[in-house]
Amino acid sequence: MSDDFYGVLGVSRDAGVAEIKKAYRKLAMQYHPDRNNGDKAAEEKFKEITEAYEVLTDAEQRAAYDRYGAAGVRGGGGGRGGFGPQHVDLSEALNIFMRDFGGLGGFDAFFGGGQRSQRDRHRGQDIKVTLQLTLAEVATGATKTVKVKTLDRCKVCDGTGAKPGTKVVRCGTCGGSGEVHRAAQSIFGQIMAVSPCPTCAGDGTVVEHQCTECRGDGRVKAEKTIQIDVPAGVADHHYLTLRDHGVPGPRRGPPGDLVAVLEIAPDPRFERHDDDLLFDLPLSFTQAALGAEVEVPTPYGPTMLKVQHGTQTGTVYRLRGKGLPRVGEAGKGDLHVRVHVWTPSKLTAEQERLLEEFAKIEGKPPAEGQVGRKFWDHLRQAFGG
Ligand SMILES: [Zn+2]
Ligand SMILES: [Zn+2]
Repeated sequence: MSDDFYGVLGVSRDAGVAEIKKAYRKLAMQYHPDRNNGDKAAEEKFKEITEAYEVLTDAEQRAAYDRYGAAGVRGGGGGRGGFGPQHVDLSEALNIFMRDFGGLGGFDAFFGGGQRSQRDRHRGQDIKVTLQLTLAEVATGATKTVKVKTLDRCKVCDGTGAKPGTKVVRCGTCGGSGEVHRAAQSIFGQIMAVSPCPTCAGDGTVVEHQCTECRGDGRVKAEKTIQIDVPAGVADHHYLTLRDHGVPGPRRGPPGDLVAVLEIAPDPRFERHDDDLLFDLPLSFTQAALGAEVEVPTPYGPTMLKVQHGTQTGTVYRLRGKGLPRVGEAGKGDLHVRVHVWTPSKLTAEQERLLEEFAKIEGKPPAEGQVGRKFWDHLRQAFGG
């Protein structure tokens, strides 16, 4: 890992948060593990830029870094919650990345780190949903509606869990702190062990008379309809997180998140290679020999392609910008149209007669192997391999 966080992101030492964010976003697009097929170097780079990003967008961390260098922010905990730079979870990072470009929540919210810890015990569950998308929806982006079974704040007690007219009282066991302290011996001497209060489960308060509607939980069953904006260019198994759209916590605890996992139905017409698409175009012998104008499908609707005369099997035509959009970026991939010359297997008497006539005057095909090589050259060219 590099110690020069500014250098890693390519920003100056006085760069503002917006600039750092922009630089990170650009690099994240490039080095994102999803785009690099398990390439270790890219993954390392991604970790590196994510670490730099995290530190430089957190005022406290940045100040520590400016003063003491990387040693000032690495290791030793230091209030970074469970998301220290040594443990960058790539799927979480992807999550930020998707969330940001999906317009589904605050980019910075994720980096709050430890802020969530205090009341985590009361945090509601996450809701996981699966969104099915077609390739056409990937091409344009889509707004999907999902119905989820969840819980809602109990209206009778307003989520407190206490019977109306009664009060929630301070927990006698912990005195309202939600924690119990206990002296314990360790090899370092006596230490204070802190654990959540067993009586109030860390809440600091207890319900003496439970609300009958929700039995003291503060929540009742509910069904909700949620709209999710899916950005264009997403891939299978990407996921979007709608922060705080999950199940509310018990007794007014904070809600969980809604996590939408994307499933993209394969389109039999196209083979997807990131932003690029490959389409196999069958041509008759005469179309290939004489040239033709043929209709080819794109995710945006059909378009016309002019096939040159003398087109061989394996020739690849590139339709620029007819592939899929790049997530969160301007620009689109290309649609590669790969030609296959079709040989008829059944001939009418007249076709046979004409072809035999033609056979008398047709030329000889080139030396063996040449056509095959060309096919792979085209493909290699098309996908930069
Ligand atoms: Zn307690
Ligand atoms: Zn209630």
